[in-house]
Amino acid sequence: MGRRLITWAMLGAVALPGVAGSRATAQQGPRARVYATLVSHNEEAISNPPCAPVVTNRERYLANRAAVVDTARLVLERGGAWDFQSEWQYLQAVASWDDAAVTGDTEGKNVVRWLAELAPDRIAVDAHSHERSGWNYADVAHALAQLGVPPTGIVGGFTASPVELESWTRLRAPLTGRRPPYPAWQAQALWGGASPGHRDDPRASGVWRPRDAEHYFEDDPASTLPNIGGWTADVASGDGLATLLDLLRTNRLEPGRMYTATIMIPQCNLDSDPALQPAVAAILDRFAPDVATGDLVWATLPSVLRTWHEEYAQVPVVVRP
Ligand SMILES: [Zn+2]
Repeated sequence: MGRRLITWAMLGAVALPGVAGSRATAQQGPRARVYATLVSHNEEAISNPPCAPVVTNRERYLANRAAVVDTARLVLERGGAWDFQSEWQYLQAVASWDDAAVTGDTEGKNVVRWLAELAPDRIAVDAHSHERSGWNYADVAHALAQLGVPPTGIVGGFTASPVELESWTRLRAPLTGRRPPYPAWQAQALWGGASPGHRDDPRASGVWRPRDAEHYFEDDPASTLPNIGGWTADVASGDGLATLLDLLRTNRLEPGRMYTATIMIPQCNLDSDPALQPAVAAILDRFAPDVATGDLVWATLPSVLRTWHEEYAQVPVVVRP
């Protein structure tokens, strides 16, 4: 779909006044905007050295918990939006260690419930699962529900490439957990298509319904499982988002469409890397002018999905970087 971008750029060069006019004045239907989301992951100890102490050592867990709470406040103060996506092992740490002695700064609630209830249009808590160690998405969503967090239906990361390793096509059907009580779960939307070692992640901006494993970037209107594109999936940086906004401002994106981008925040480094929380603040400050013009909206992934249904009539968009 790189071709789509080029085609539009050429059209724009020919018909620039009309295009600019349609963006600047009231038109039929919604205006083109970028919807952006901060997304964080925690991981199993076996797979991720920065997360290993956070999910296995109570002191590090509590230091990270305090940093998560600070980051949530920072995101709300600056009008951002954050999807906090969690693997199973962190949720077991929450269940073990979020007792009355530590929940004083979260209204007596465990940290994931507090995050989910703090400002639901600004912070969402989703399942993240590598679907190993005997856990799958249904099990992680159930563990969240046990902690008081209702399922959002967001698939917080999956394998899309290479096609023989893809993990998403089966998520179009209801999923049953692998461990007692073998809970049922239905995915509502995909986010975070990846590849082993992130060597060949399938990147795009926009929301569409991937057709099948071989035709991931093709929209299938008959599919009920949309994918929310993360664009370049910046890590603790807004450079990819800045590029997308530049394409929007220079009329190189089709008008009237919904564009998406996400910025990854490594949750397990929030307490150990003193530069990380300031980086989150700097990202939100950097794009405040784009929020003011209406080119950019910070939105959680469930809110992006709702907006795609309600304001953009589920019109599919796939723009490859
Ligand atoms: Zn992960």
